Amino acid sequence: HFRALVIDDSDGKPVAGFRDLTLADLPNHDVLVEVLFSTLNYKDGLAVSGKGRIARRLPMVAGVDLAGIVVESRNPDWKPDDKVVVNGWGMSETEWGGYTRFQRLKPEWLTRLPETFTLEESMAIGTAGYTAALAIEALEAWGKIKSDKREILVTGAAGGVGSVAISLLAARGYKVTASTGRPETLTYLSGLGATGFVDRAELAAKGGALQKERWVGAIDSVGSTTLANVLAQTFQSGAVAACGLAGGADLPATVMPHILRGVALLGINSVTAPHAERDRAWAILAESLDRQRLAAMTTIEPLSNLPQLAEDIVAGKIRGRVVVDVTK
Ligand code: NAP
Repeated sequence: HFRALVIDDSDGKPVAGFRDLTLADLPNHDVLVEVLFSTLNYKDGLAVSGKGRIARRLPMVAGVDLAGIVVESRNPDWKPDDKVVVNGWGMSETEWGGYTRFQRLKPEWLTRLPETFTLEESMAIGTAGYTAALAIEALEAWGKIKSDKREILVTGAAGGVGSVAISLLAARGYKVTASTGRPETLTYLSGLGATGFVDRAELAAKGGALQKERWVGAIDSVGSTTLANVLAQTFQSGAVAACGLAGGADLPATVMPHILRGVALLGINSVTAPHAERDRAWAILAESLDRQRLAAMTTIEPLSNLPQLAEDIVAGKIRGRVVVDVTK
């Protein structure tokens, strides 16, 4: 027997609770992994608190990320003792995820642990950090960002995607402005490499279709009026990577920044990103993520604390990244 955090139906509502499972309960996929660490992302918060309908079949083992060691494999690409990371691929939505001691997975979902990182660090990065790297990859691939005005904006700055984005951008030589609603995090954000600050309330208020140009690019976790304002404040030929919806899933914007300034809105989807893109994102992390900064943004929590942590992340109270120790 081992313990897992399982979402199941309770009077028509998805409710999360701890349950004992055996290996026989796991899906019949080809690779059995002993999970050592998982993590907490905003989507995990929605799934476990029941505030968002993330699990599309029940019962569902929650957790969109996992890191661990291969125990058994019926696939030639993976063998016992291989260290692996899994981000997304429908885990916690349609596929059983990482809040468990063991999981069976399809071989094509596995990523080999990059040599630069330990299993624990790979989960300090997690989907949030790997998404920040995907966003940087997308902005750099856009190829038109003016290097003489390298001020890049990161919204939802003190959250997981935001914290990793700031430290990666700073390490890559950009001038980073952080937008946060938590002034108490300013010292933390400076420590990650941010040099400018914007109050998130300023970006949340409805603004004009074209505003004073301020950013060559941006990484946005907030959506809604914040994203509309960021687009309206982006320089000619700049680009904004849209990652999230912490402030809302709507986008009350106009086409003006796009048709008058050539601004690009780049969509980021981490869940089903192909391996080539994932590999480039992990390469950016290996190259530019300072391990001391990663440690400074990370706390470690036992699996048993997840129900409370899920409430906290949805309420915007979590700073940086949380690693989940699934053995505790
Ligand atoms: P997180 O740690 O909770 O960070 C979100 C941050 O957004 C918060 O720390 C807060 O930053 C800000 N925020 C929260 N509520 C807000 C509100 N009502 N209005 C404005 N700002 C608000 O979550 P995360 O794991 O980094 O994820 C961030 C977002 O990206 C989520 O929406 C998540 O679903 C999305 N995401 C998408 C992908 C993808 O594949 N596209 C992958 C990962 C995450 P401050 O306190 O600094 O203001």
